[in-house]
Amino acid sequence: MEGNYIGLFVQDMDVVMTRGARSHVEFNFLCNLSVCEYYDNILVRFNAQPSIRRRSIHIYLDRSMSHQELLEIIDQQLRDWPVLDVQELDRRQLIEAALNTASYLLSSMHLQHNVLVIPLVIHIVSHRAIAMEGPDLRMVPATVSSIESLNITTAKAEQNCSICLEDFDLGCQVVSMPCSHVFHEECIKTWLRRSHYCPLCRFEMPISNC
Ligand SMILES: [Zn+2]
Ligand SMILES: [Zn+2]
Repeated sequence: MEGNYIGLFVQDMDVVMTRGARSHVEFNFLCNLSVCEYYDNILVRFNAQPSIRRRSIHIYLDRSMSHQELLEIIDQQLRDWPVLDVQELDRRQLIEAALNTASYLLSSMHLQHNVLVIPLVIHIVSHRAIAMEGPDLRMVPATVSSIESLNITTAKAEQNCSICLEDFDLGCQVVSMPCSHVFHEECIKTWLRRSHYCPLCRFEMPISNC
């Protein structure tokens, strides 16, 4: 039993129209990310306060721009949005929905309005099953000394902690495992007190022999 699946819902679309010198559309993607973790089909963790990610995209309208070109422009800008990469969401599907909404709204827009702001609120619930594959893979904590001797390093841009799924603040202190995967200090220490495996690659930390 192992796997991740994602529920994606787009809701709360409303429109703000103002006057401006040039016609443009602004998409405000807002992502509320909640995490449910299951261990042996039992919910063990639910992050009830979702983390919120924002990404705004401005597009100046050009009549010669095709639907495909618009799709590529938005796709390029969303490609480095960590939440979509980590969650392996169908980015194209999301963009198609945004563009369809935009073209519908543009067609019904009054001529004197030339700025269209479209907020898209995306609720993502990430359901993660924690694997149990046999007696050898039982949750055995890492030794206290191995947890305490982990290296502290500095977060690079575009990284996130795959335990809590939060983006690292640029330059913040994170903990690096011997396998070089990095996490928030609190997140990985709490994890290693339950399991000696790296949450990402199953690298094994030392366990006590008793
Ligand atoms: Zn974390
Ligand atoms: Zn690892």
